[in-house]
Amino acid sequence: MTEAAAVVPFDEAVASYDPVIGLETHVELGTRTKMFCGCRAEFGGAPNSQVCPVCLGLPGSLPVANRAAIEFTIRIGLALNCTIAGWCRFARKNYFYPDMPKNFQISQYDEPLCTDGWLEVQAEEPQPGGGTAPRRIRVGIERVHMEEDTGKSLHVGGATGRIHGADYSLVDYNRAGIPLVEVVTRPVEGTGALAPAVARAYVTELRDLMRALGVSDVRMEEGSLRCDVNTSLSPRGSGRLGTRTETKNVNSLRSVERAVRSEVSRQAAVLDAGQPVTLETRHFHEDSGITTPGRSKEEAQDYRYFPEPDLVPVAPSREWVEQIRAGLPELPAARRERLKTEWQLSDLEFAAIHNAGAVELVARTVAAGASPADARKWWLGELARRANESGAELTALPIMPADVARVAALTGAGTLTDRLARQVIDGVLAGEGTPDEVVAARGLAVAGEDALSAAVDEAIAADPGAAESVRGGKVAAAGALVGKVMKATGGKADAARARQLILQRLGQG
Ligand code: ADP
Ligand code: MG
Ligand code: ZN
Repeated sequence: MTEAAAVVPFDEAVASYDPVIGLETHVELGTRTKMFCGCRAEFGGAPNSQVCPVCLGLPGSLPVANRAAIEFTIRIGLALNCTIAGWCRFARKNYFYPDMPKNFQISQYDEPLCTDGWLEVQAEEPQPGGGTAPRRIRVGIERVHMEEDTGKSLHVGGATGRIHGADYSLVDYNRAGIPLVEVVTRPVEGTGALAPAVARAYVTELRDLMRALGVSDVRMEEGSLRCDVNTSLSPRGSGRLGTRTETKNVNSLRSVERAVRSEVSRQAAVLDAGQPVTLETRHFHEDSGITTPGRSKEEAQDYRYFPEPDLVPVAPSREWVEQIRAGLPELPAARRERLKTEWQLSDLEFAAIHNAGAVELVARTVAAGASPADARKWWLGELARRANESGAELTALPIMPADVARVAALTGAGTLTDRLARQVIDGVLAGEGTPDEVVAARGLAVAGEDALSAAVDEAIAADPGAAESVRGGKVAAAGALVGKVMKATGGKADAARARQLILQRLGQG
């Protein structure tokens, strides 16, 4: 197969083509037991310690659907504004793979439990005059269906961990039969250059929704949320969809965005060269940020789907569905609206917090006693800068919202100046303890009134010339005296207060 190695710069690509994206997201449900048996569904047990005849696919064993998994799926469907089927069935998806002991996966096919919903997401649109403005995009949800996870293969002995070059392979069936939901979007059109950001915003929003619903812990690193990213290009204004590629198992939010970007650039080069885009799966490489071809969909195998004969249909009563609807928690979008009002922020101000991934951090800092303005100031200012410098997510910084609230309180009480507060944050980030411990250990508290007063007297005595000028009405000359006070106190004086004292002493206060 020949691959066009060339890529078109992203901006040029989106000037000639309309990107269309579609996302298929698998989420492992956080039920206590597996989808069709009573085995525990926890992550991290000793290999093959959480298995039984059902999830090992032994002859004669019979599956029974997990009621909690069905309830979780309905919860997800309702939160995504879907229609919940009154009656639907599981289907067998037949294929052979060593990590799937039954030689078929129980899934849903043409009768999914939830259909036809939407999820609203927000992306930042660059404005003609500079800056950005939040734009809302409604992503259509085609279906939400239930299925079971497969086991996990471990290829031992090779350099790459892949099957090629390995000496032997091991299979762990603990994950086999863990309940999964798959959420499939409709093609998302018309987002232009925002397509990569919209893909990321969608997965982020879906993750937050799952967390709020309490149906999954959604840790992308542990693989409990996995995403297949479909991308296609259509020539601008052509009004038809182009051929898509499906980038498999993209494992971080950042990678979702990069995978779309890289596919847009690659497909534009293919189309510019007059070639057709191949309908295929592709793999995203974290290191290089590009995708390489996987399986061609033209040769896709026929899974011989048929209704699963060992399971009864799923027929949730209307009463049960309404009961689940009534029990839904506050969803992230509603929560954000409420917080925006409570914190008295504009759309733009709130969007900045949201885009920085800091809504929960700010909320918890406010809950710990800080004012919304202070919480926002520290997280979006100093702490965002630190996170940026170290290439870490804001949430990964080793500082707790309660610590930030304490720093804000100490600053508000005049115990710390902003400058000292930044040093306290340094200490907390360096693992030196709580803000109070850092203040004590580093001796960072602002000089007390007595010490300040003494330093002011010394400064006036040491610089009679400046003192005379101030006395004579040249208030600007106080700057030199404030500088002396700052020096004498090792920078721990409140400069504004020092100035006030100096002016008072010299008859100008
Ligand atoms: P498959 O089983 O081949 O993965 P699905 O129907 O399960 O197909 O999912 C296809 C995904 O690709 C959906 O999210 C759909 O919205 C998306 N999609 C379909 N056509 C296009 C297209 N032309 N461009 C981008 N995404 C598309
Ligand atoms: Mg699919
Ligand atoms: Zn089992």
